[in-house]
Order: sequence, then C-alpha cells, then structure tokens
Amino acid sequence: MQSEQAQISDVVVGLTEQLTQRASQNTPDPHNQRREVQAVFADTFNNFKLFYQAALESGFCKARLLSQTSNGLSDVPGLNNYQTEAMIFNTRFGQQPFTIALCESTLEVQLIYKLAIKYNLPIRVRSGGHDHEGECSGNHTILIDTSRIKHFSYDDSSEVACIGAGYRFYQLTPKLAEQGRMIAHGTCATVGLTGFIQGGGWGPWTRKYGMCCEYLVGATVVLGNGEVLEVYDNRSENNGKETPESEILWALRGGGGMSWGIITELRVKTFELPDEIHRFEVSWNQLEKNASDEYVPQKQRPTIEVLKAWEASIESKCTADLLGTNLKVNAIAKEDKNTKEDYQKLYHPCTMYGYWQGTEKDMKQYIDDTFGNIGKNTPKPTVTCTKVGGKVKQAAGMASGQKYHYDHALLSNWARESIADQNVPLHSLLQMQKQAFKPDYDAPAPHKITSKLVEEDGLSEAGYEQLLDTLTSPLIQQESASLGLFSYVTLGAIVGDFYHNLKESETALGVSFPYQKSLYTIQYQTWWNEEIKNKLELQNNPVYVDTNRAMDWISASRSAEIQGAYGAFISFKDASIPTPVYFQQSYNRLVKIKKTYIKDDYNHLRTRKTII
Ligand SMILES: Cc1cc2nc3c(=O)[nH]c(=O)nc-3n(C[C@H](O)[C@H](O)[C@H](O)COP(=O)(O)OP(=O)(O)OC[C@H]3O[C@@H](n4cnc5c(N)ncnc54)[C@H](O)[C@@H]3O)c2cc1C
Repeated sequence: MQSEQAQISDVVVGLTEQLTQRASQNTPDPHNQRREVQAVFADTFNNFKLFYQAALESGFCKARLLSQTSNGLSDVPGLNNYQTEAMIFNTRFGQQPFTIALCESTLEVQLIYKLAIKYNLPIRVRSGGHDHEGECSGNHTILIDTSRIKHFSYDDSSEVACIGAGYRFYQLTPKLAEQGRMIAHGTCATVGLTGFIQGGGWGPWTRKYGMCCEYLVGATVVLGNGEVLEVYDNRSENNGKETPESEILWALRGGGGMSWGIITELRVKTFELPDEIHRFEVSWNQLEKNASDEYVPQKQRPTIEVLKAWEASIESKCTADLLGTNLKVNAIAKEDKNTKEDYQKLYHPCTMYGYWQGTEKDMKQYIDDTFGNIGKNTPKPTVTCTKVGGKVKQAAGMASGQKYHYDHALLSNWARESIADQNVPLHSLLQMQKQAFKPDYDAPAPHKITSKLVEEDGLSEAGYEQLLDTLTSPLIQQESASLGLFSYVTLGAIVGDFYHNLKESETALGVSFPYQKSLYTIQYQTWWNEEIKNKLELQNNPVYVDTNRAMDWISASRSAEIQGAYGAFISFKDASIPTPVYFQQSYNRLVKIKKTYIKDDYNHLRTRKTII
C-alpha cells in the first residue's frame, strides 16, 4: 500500500507529464505550421475551381476564360492563348493569374468580379497592360481584362466621346480624327486610355490642353460591392454639394488606377484638331566616331545650356504653338569616379521631341530662335520633322468625315531608345546573323522607372547640378547602349498655355492630379533586351552583366535630392515610393473617397500602389 505522500507525488508526476506533453503540443512545429498554410492555399485552389465552374454555368464564354489548363492554341507557335494573354508590357514581370477573363461588357465584368469575391479570390484589373510595376496582373488572381470593351460613339453637340475601357491610343486616335477631334493622349501608341487617364495623362498636347484627366466628364464603374455606378458631376442636383458620383469622378481624374472600381466606359470631352500639326525632333551631342574608332558623343552643346533653353521655352507665354514637348537626356558613365564633374562642361546626348501647331517654316523658325544661340561656333543640332496631321484639303468626291488625318505611328519614339537608333558596333552574335534592327519603340520590354516633378519656381542652381550628377554615374556602363540597355531621363513639359490660363474657380470640380503647377516631370528610365536580341540570345545575353547596376542607378536617382524637385507621378509607377508622395495634397481626400463611396469593405480593389 503506497503512503499518502507517495500517492500525492505520483499525481504530481502524472500532472507534470501531462503538462509537459501539452506544452510540447503547443510548441510550434514548423512542419505542421507549413501544412496549415498549405491547406489554406489548397482551399484557394479549390475555390478557383468552383469559381471557374460557376462562371461557365453563368454563361461566360469558355474561349475567353483562359487558364493554364483551359486555353486554346494562339497564333504564336509554341504558346497557347493563356500564355500570350498573360504577357504584359513590362516583361520584367511574368505573373501567372489563375484565370484571365477577357470581358466584353459591363455585365461580364460585374459577373466575374462578383464571383471572384464570392469565392474569396484576389482580383486584378487590366486594360492596356502598361503598368510599369505590373500591377495589372498577379499570381493566383482572377485577372479581369477590359481590353475587349471597345464600343465608341461621339456626340457632336456635347463634343464628348463615349469610349469603351479597352481602347489603346493607336486604336482610338484614328476614330477621333475621323470626327476632326482629338483628346490629350500620351506618347506611346499601345498604352490604354483607362490606366493613362486615371494617372493624370501626360503627353504631346499637355502644354496647350493640360493633362487628359482634365477632360474626363463621366465613367461607368463597377464598385467594390459589384454594383454599377454612372459617375459624373451631378452636384447641381444636390444643392451644389458633393455626391458619391462627383467625388468618384474627381478621384478618377488623377487618383491612380484600380482604386475606384472597375471602369468599363469613359466619357471624355474632345477638342478640335488643328489645321496643321508637325512632330519634330532636335538632337544634340549624338554619337560620332573619334580618332581611335570609338563612338563618343559629339561635344555640341553643354547639357545645362540645352536644358535651360528648353525650360525657358516651355515656361514662355509666347510659345503657344508648341503643343507639347519632352527632352530626353541620356545618362552617361562617370569617367573619373573620384572627382566631381564640372557640370557646366557635361555633354549628354539630348533629344527634344515636340508637337508643333502650324507650318514647318514657323516650326523651324521657332527652333532657330530658341536654340540657335546656344554654343556659338558649334555645329547646329540635327532637326527632323514630319507632318502628323490636321485638315486635309477636301478632294472632289471624298466622303465627308475624311477631312482630317492623324497618323498614330507618330505617337511612337518620344521616350524610348531603340537598338535601331544605335550606330555603334553591335554584339558579335547579332552581326553574325546580319539582321537589320527594326525600330521597336512599341515592343514590350523589361524596364524600371522612377520619377520626380519640378516645382513651380523651377530647379535651383544646386538642383541643376544634382540632376546632372544623377545623369553622370559610375553605375552607368560605357558598353550598355551597344548591348541594347538604355538609361536616360525624359523631362515632360506640363507648364504651358493651359495651366498658365487655368483659373481656380470655386464651382469647378477640379482634378485629383496634384501637379497642375509643376513645370515638368523628370522620368528616370532604364530599358533593355530589345525584342530581337532577346530572341537570339535568351539568357546568354551579355546585357545581363549590366542590368542590376542600371536598376541600382534608378534606386540611386530616386533617393537623390534635387533642389526644386519633389513628389512622383503615379503613371510612372515605382512601387518603392510611398503612396502619399504620389498624391500630395490630394491624398487625404482620396483616402476618404475610397472609404466612403467605393463600397469595398475588404479593400478587394487593391494593389501595392492603390489608395489604401
Ligand atoms: C511605353 C510606355 C509609354 C508611356 N507613355 C506615357 C505617356 O506618354 N504619358 C503618361 O502619362 N503615361 C505614360 N505611360 C504610363 C501609362 O500611362 C501608365 O502605365 C498607365 O497606367 C497605363 O495604362 P494601361 O491601361 O495601358 O495599363 P494597365 O496596366 O492595364 O493599367 C494600369 C493601372 O490601371 C488599372 N486599370 C486598368 N484597367 C482598369 C479598369 N478597367 N478599371 C479600373 N482600373 C483599371 C490597373 O489595375 C493598373 O493599376 C507609359 C507607359 C509605358 C509602358
């Protein structure tokens, strides 16, 4: 018979063992934890299957609901439809959504969105697919693609065009030109209007007409709860007070993509095409062979002089016919890494692009007057010019409605370099192939972008030095351009007649684009792997020796202080920049609109750079 003491001690030992056992059960087991998370992931996969089945049962066309296992052959040998449709413009990203729903109407968008939410699946929304950070797609998401929503109509009395959310500029501009009308489009033919206008919309018309978002008068959106809303400025129906419709419209005018619901139609006020427009380029400090047969930039004009002349010209109130312009300045390798450069004596290759309203003669006169005095006794810059469009003389028998032409091809090459532009020796493999390089300004390619904007008062003297310092960097490699890797800034003029004359009226709805007073954008860009090089060389491409340093150059430029520059432009998206920096004084009101009117309790309409 055990003593009472011994019995007690047995109980204590038993309890301790139990507790130890329990404690060991509570000790996190990494294997089990991983399995639990995998089980949730398995649920997501299962939900996707249920979603897919439900979408088909609801009548969504199977040929337009692409997945890795349900696709169909594409017209690209070796790729199926899912693989071709998954590709976005920035080929640095290669997301694999669960499905790509190629929607053709508001009803289809609504159906797919509601089902995605019902089955607890993340969504992405895509129109032109040109988001620089690839936020128009995502792994394991339901990708709602609106690029097939392509209805178009134009109302003469209101001068407003109703434009389906799927239009890219090269498809839209000829339709508008048929009516003798235009909108303030961008510089790349394949960019989608829907993403562009929500970011603000900068382009070759900005000096004269402002940002494209200034003309957005209405839109059809599918909100966070799946409800369809027509947004427009209806404050007059509410004693002049804000309404959900007017607030969302304000947010859509520059508040960035995806935050405000899924757009299926945009209503944009148009302007009349001028009688004659020319697109021109003026280049300085381009490459030429030196005595040792190396290609080096000509020392034609110090960069600082070109930059200051361009700035004076965009700020001037006497250059109304310069509809819009940007100035590209190529980054150059810093020759002596240890010494500070004299920034008055730097010669970067520079190209000014512009749209001119009027005759070629007047345009050339303008170029002479503006840039003729730079660097006396130095060779003149190279000038090229093409007539883009305007009124065509009505030939006998010509149908009415054909009295304007507008060549969309001339949207291209405002900002992109192409290997075809390089008169430098090319990589040996390519020479062996003896292939001529076609310009590829509109071809998808990997790239990285960041940006700043120049304040109303312009850059300080220190600011110029800091800007040119970012463009003269040890991270830039001499050989990069010959390998198809280009690093440069484009400075895009905002200031001009439109913003000079804009009166802030108390009754106007205004725009959420926060940089109306800024002089110009500074867009840092690095691009590589032009189509044909990529095809020939795949991973054995010497460009990859330089790409990381080029992206480090973007990071260094992002953090560089430039006195007189601030903020960042959401359309030139760089995910490392905090969201409030993009939206400045508009940020708090945008957050309020998202919380109050978008009916999106769980923030389904979310990517990294959306409002909340
Ligand atoms: C080569 C190139 C040139 C460019 N040139 C210019 C220029 O000259 N001026 C300028 O201002 N910008 C320019 N951009 C930037 C461009 O305006 C933005 O990347 C814009 O967001 C692209 O719109 P998208 O419809 O093509 O892209 P997408 O990638 O489809 O969309 C961009 C954003 O909008 C959202 N979105 C797309 N469709 C919808 C929808 N139906 N409803 C709600 N949200 C939606 C996406 O989710 C994403 O967040 C250029 C970009 C590139 C790649």
